[in-house]
Amino acid sequence: MLPLVRHLYLHVPFCAKVCPYCAFYVHGGSAGLQRRYVAAVCKEIQRARSRYKLDLQTVYFGGGTPSMLSVDLFVAIAQALPSNQVVEFTLEVNPATVTRAKADAWKAAGVNRISLGAQSFDADYLKLLGRQHVPEDISETVRHLRETGFENINIDLMYSLPMMPEETWERTLKAALDCGPNHVSAYALTYEEDTPFYEKLKRGAWKTDEEREIRMFNITYDLLREAGFDAYEVSNFARPGFESIHNLSYWRGEDYLGIGPSPCSTVAGQRWKNFEDTEAYIVRIDREECLRTEIENLTPEIRRREKIMLGLRTREGVEIDCLGDQGDEICQLVRDKLAVVRDGRLTLTQRGRIVADSITEMFC
Ligand code: SF4
Repeated sequence: MLPLVRHLYLHVPFCAKVCPYCAFYVHGGSAGLQRRYVAAVCKEIQRARSRYKLDLQTVYFGGGTPSMLSVDLFVAIAQALPSNQVVEFTLEVNPATVTRAKADAWKAAGVNRISLGAQSFDADYLKLLGRQHVPEDISETVRHLRETGFENINIDLMYSLPMMPEETWERTLKAALDCGPNHVSAYALTYEEDTPFYEKLKRGAWKTDEEREIRMFNITYDLLREAGFDAYEVSNFARPGFESIHNLSYWRGEDYLGIGPSPCSTVAGQRWKNFEDTEAYIVRIDREECLRTEIENLTPEIRRREKIMLGLRTREGVEIDCLGDQGDEICQLVRDKLAVVRDGRLTLTQRGRIVADSITEMFC
C-alpha cells in the first residue's frame, strides 16, 4: 500500500532580491530558469503521485516568492496537483507583486488563503530589511486581494528589529490590523548565520536586547487579543476559524511532502531534505535520480521529543503522558503560572511561552 500524504509544501526559490536577514534557499531566476524549474516540479509531482497516495487536504506554496511566477507557470504547477480534496491552499505573496490577472488566476486555481510577507509598516525598517515594497503597497495589495474574493488573509510581521523602538512595533501592529487580516504571524527577528544581518551582529554594530524583545512579545499578545485574535501558536494569531490547517499539521507532527529544491519531507517514519540547488535539482529530475539528502529515520524517541517541542508552542499543548515521570516539574510550572493542566494536557501560559525553549529542555 502506498504511504498516505495529506499535506504538501512546494518551494519556489526565486526572489527579486535576497533580503539581508534571510536564510532560506532563495536566489534570482531568469524567465528561462523559472520555466525549467516549473517543468521539473511538475515531473516531481508526477513522481510523487506514483509513490504516495496523495489525498491532499492542504497545499502550501512558499519560498522564495511564489507570487513572482507568471500566470502560465503558476497554473502549470497547480494543474499538476491532485487538488480535489484540498480544503486549504495557501500562497505566499509579496506586496507589489500582485496584478489583477495573477490574483484571478490564483483564485481560479483554488488558492483560498494568502500569506502576505509585509514584515513592517515602517518605511525605514522596510528599507533596512531590504524589502522591495513600501507600506502603502501592503494595504493596496490587501484591497486588491479582497476585491478578487480572497477572504482568508495572513499578514507576516517581524519585531525586535535592530534598534526598533516599541512604539514603532505598536504602530506596525495597528496598521496591520487596519488592513483587516484574519491571521497574523509575528516573529522576532533571528540572526541567521551567513547573512549580512548576522555579520553586523557579530561585528558588534548591532546588539540584541532580550528585555525589549519580551516587551514587544507582550505588546503583540495584548494588542492582538484585544482585536479578537487567539495565539494558537507562540508566533501565530488567528480569528476563530482562521487557524492555518497546514501549519497545525506540522505542529501536530503529521506527515507532509516537500516538493522543489530544498524543502524537508516527513513520510512514513522517514525525514529527508530535497537537493538544495535548483540547477542540480532540475538535472536530477531529468535523469530520474534521487532528490533526497540528509535522510533520517524517526525513532519513537525523536518523535516524542518533537511532539513536546512543537506541542508546547501551541494552544493545544502536550499530553501529560508524553512528558514521562516529571510530576514535580509540572506542578512547579503550574505554581509559577508558566503552564496550566487541562484535560490531561500541559499548555504554556503567555509567560510560559516566553521561556518555551527552556521548558522544552526540561522534558527532552
Ligand atoms: S522576500 Fe522573503 S524569501 Fe525572499 S529573500 Fe526576502 S525574506 Fe527571503
